[in-house]
Order: sequence, then C-alpha cells, then structure tokens
Amino acid sequence: MSAILKAEEICKYFGAIRAVKEVSFEVGEGELLALIGPNGAGKSTCFNMLMGQLKPTAGKVYLRDQELTGLGPRDIWRKGVGRTFQITATYQSMTVVENVQMALISHHRRLFSVLPFAHKLYREEAMHFLEVVGMQDQAERHCAVLAYGDLKRLELAIALSHDPQLLLMDEPTAGMAPKERIGLMQLTADIVRDRKISVLFTEHDMDVVFAHAHRVMVLNRGELIAQGSVEDIRNNAQVQEVYLGGGTLFKDEEEKADA
Ligand code: ADP
Ligand code: MG
Repeated sequence: MSAILKAEEICKYFGAIRAVKEVSFEVGEGELLALIGPNGAGKSTCFNMLMGQLKPTAGKVYLRDQELTGLGPRDIWRKGVGRTFQITATYQSMTVVENVQMALISHHRRLFSVLPFAHKLYREEAMHFLEVVGMQDQAERHCAVLAYGDLKRLELAIALSHDPQLLLMDEPTAGMAPKERIGLMQLTADIVRDRKISVLFTEHDMDVVFAHAHRVMVLNRGELIAQGSVEDIRNNAQVQEVYLGGGTLFKDEEEKADA
C-alpha cells in the first residue's frame, strides 16, 4: 500500500496540555481510514494540524513526497487535501446547485472575473457532483430550507468539486440520526471506491466505523494506542479498556450479554 499522507511524530502542546504526543501514521492510497478515541483524545487537534489550521509543535506532515508542515489551510487545500466541517458551511441564500457552482468557480480561480454571470458557469459539472451525492432532485432548493442530513451531503459535493486526492472528515455524521449516519458513510465508502480518493475520518458511532472503515487507528490522551483492521481493533484489550466507560464500542457483545 503506498501512502498518500504521512504524519511523522506530530505533537501539539497547548501550554501545559499535551493534546497530541508524537503521533505517526500513514493514510494509504484509496483507503477509508478511521481515527477514533474518547472525547478530548486529540482527534480534532490532529486534523487541524494536517489541514494547516494548527502548526505542529514538532513533527512533520507529508502529502506523497511534498512536505505540508507549516503551510496554511489554503495552500494545503490547493495541493488536493479537502475537508468537510463539523458545522456545515454553505451559503444559505443560494440554491443547492449554486453552492456547488460557487465552489467550482473558486476551484478554477475565476471568482472575481466572472461574478456577474456566475450562475451560468459550471452548471453541468455542479449537477454531476449533486448526482454523485444523490441531491440532483434538490438542485433548485434554497440551502436555508434543507434538512440537516441533506446539508451534509451538499457539503460533501462541495468538497468533491475541489477534486481532492485526500478528504479529511472530522465527525461528518455529528448531529445526524443513526440511519442517516450509516447512509452518509455508505455514500463516502462508495465515493472512495469509485473516485479512488482517500478519506481520513473521525466518528463516535462504532457501528458506523466497523461497518465501513478499511482500517482503524485509536487515539487516547494524545497517543496512538492501536491501529489495525476492524477485527484487530475490536479484539484489542487496551482499546476495550479505553472504551469500557462509554460502552459504545462493543454494542453487539453487550446486546448478546443482555439477551
Ligand atoms: P477530540 O477531537 O479527540 O475530542 P481535541 O483535539 O479537540 O480532542 O482536544 C484534545 C485536547 O486538547 C483536549 O484536552 C482539549 O481540551 C485540548 N485543546 C484542544 N484545542 C485547544 C486549544 N485551542 N487550546 C487549549 N487546549 C486545547
Ligand atoms: Mg473533536
């Protein structure tokens, strides 16, 4: 497996708090990789370092052979690392298709020269991305009236319109109903397969993680304590211990025990 992204001993300290301690990992080409761990484990801090929102205290980040460490979010995004946000970021006053068109215009760097007739540009391409996420029927609706799950899918279409090689999704299903969560992750898994991109995501619903992730990494108190296949992680004693309090990791077993 060749790596698209490599983190080498990245650290982030906030004063005395060591949020992330010498974490190293790789994201493989075409891989759907989950980063899990209890609240406060350092998952978002890791994401923010990969995306350039936070500068690592130490360590390095590479996209293939290019170093990303120290670059700002916009430069990293231009190199082909996309992200979706925990809070959806769309233009409420525009329609669904207009939001994707705006993203395409910005991707092709034509924002200021074409604004007066922006509505004509990239419409077909925008419709294509809406089709990928199953939103073509809602193209003419205003974003302000969309259901939360649909906004999340629109956000995914916008992220894809920047043609990322790697997509970072920090809790993409936060605030969604369980059925919608499975749906969004299924869609993400299909996109990874069909478009041959890589995705690194965090998720607290273990059913979603175990159903879709190709591989799982576990962060606890800023340290990577395990990584491996879904089966490896399910059976890892240290991981079980970390999750004992929450009890969400082994729902199947709990259900069996209750029966
Ligand atoms: P997770 O996403 O796994 O829930 P975070 O990365 O958000 O965890 O947080 C890891 C630790 O770093 C927590 O103890 C959190 O309070 C701390 N932390 C995160 N961001 C900041 C910040 N900007 N300033 C100070 N402490 C922070
Ligand atoms: Mg977080």
